Amino acid sequence: QFAERGFRAAVVRQKGGPFRIESVNITQPHHNEVLVRVVATGMCHTDMVARDQIYPVPHPIVLGHEGAGIVEAVGENVTKVKKGDHVVLTFHSCGACRPCQEGHPAYCENFNDYNFSGARPDDGSHALCGHDQAPLNDRFFGQSSFGAYAIANVRNVVKVRKDAPLELLGPLGCGIQTGAGTVLNALNVGPGASFAAFGAGAVGLSAVMAAAAVGATTIFAIDVVSSRLELARQLGATHVVNSADDDPVEVIRAVTGKGVDFAMDSTGITSVIRNAALALRPTGAAAIVGASKPGAVLDLDVNDLMQNVKSVRGVVEGDSIPDVFIPKLIDLYLAGRFPFDKLVKFYAFDQINEAAADSEKGVTLKPIIRIG
Ligand code: NAD
Ligand code: ZN
Repeated sequence: QFAERGFRAAVVRQKGGPFRIESVNITQPHHNEVLVRVVATGMCHTDMVARDQIYPVPHPIVLGHEGAGIVEAVGENVTKVKKGDHVVLTFHSCGACRPCQEGHPAYCENFNDYNFSGARPDDGSHALCGHDQAPLNDRFFGQSSFGAYAIANVRNVVKVRKDAPLELLGPLGCGIQTGAGTVLNALNVGPGASFAAFGAGAVGLSAVMAAAAVGATTIFAIDVVSSRLELARQLGATHVVNSADDDPVEVIRAVTGKGVDFAMDSTGITSVIRNAALALRPTGAAAIVGASKPGAVLDLDVNDLMQNVKSVRGVVEGDSIPDVFIPKLIDLYLAGRFPFDKLVKFYAFDQINEAAADSEKGVTLKPIIRIG
């Protein structure tokens, strides 16, 4: 029994793509699920990583994990949202493991099953099938939102205010929440603090904006692309370093004396992560957020860490509780203090492969695909 038939979704049928727009059908939402009419979906590196099976997701699959849309129908147990509500879709989590119970759903022990298995984790079923009725892998980040309809779980739909521009909001569900949350939730950057973002892509620039919004007074952005550094300045960076020309650790020491209070790496390059640790002042903390190659090993000066009481840790999805954090980011945006619209370029649904190519070439920081 289908809730909607014959609508458009982007299906990846082979490793490396392309995204092919096909006609698909979607089931009714289960008890704890929400059927969403998708308005627009952001595109993030993780979509490409899944398209290329660097993460072992099963194909054929419908990807897309930064969806925004309008609730069309809800399962019988759902009270959090109702038909007509505006929602942002985010990562899924089990709600039952220890990190979930401790208020860290981004650190869910079952994160892979809930976000990357291509099926519902409870019964292995799919919400989507092709027009030939053959099941499609889906449930990507509990949504698979590169389609006109998506089913999410009550745990990964976030109700948002209706006066915010819905088509812009999807990226808050992953990339932007990751950079901003790392600064605001995980590192706890505060007023008067110093912060360095190593990597000024969508994640790094979101961190820069969050640090500025919270009142950090010395904010470095480090990248090798000068246009990104110019944008970083507009978004609140007080200092920028092109690390192709200058040594960022030297520049940071020259400006701050002892180093920065906080740093974040979104490049995933181990030599850059090492610099993020070296650039910390004593007792400073650095977060690793960028995805490194499988098996990458980090070379750190142990005595620098020990004697200077530095910490270096991983952070996933900004350690965010999405139902709490995403509405806060929207309030900050509407107050003019978190201008993430400056990162965005919109594409029509049939330009989805162009959007992916522009993202991979670094031409576009954050593509959003208009779907509905
Ligand atoms: P991006 O490619 O837009 O940003 C990376 C930036 O690093 C680019 O601007 C690039 O020019 C810069 N860079 C490359 N080499 C550099 C160097 N040697 N020194 C300084 N800068 C350099 O990507 P993004 O969308 O910002 O995502 C960043 C990373 O975060 C990706 O690896 C992504 O998969 C990961 N990510 C992680 C999480 C998480 O929960 N941990 C969530 C979302 C994304
Ligand atoms: Zn969990």
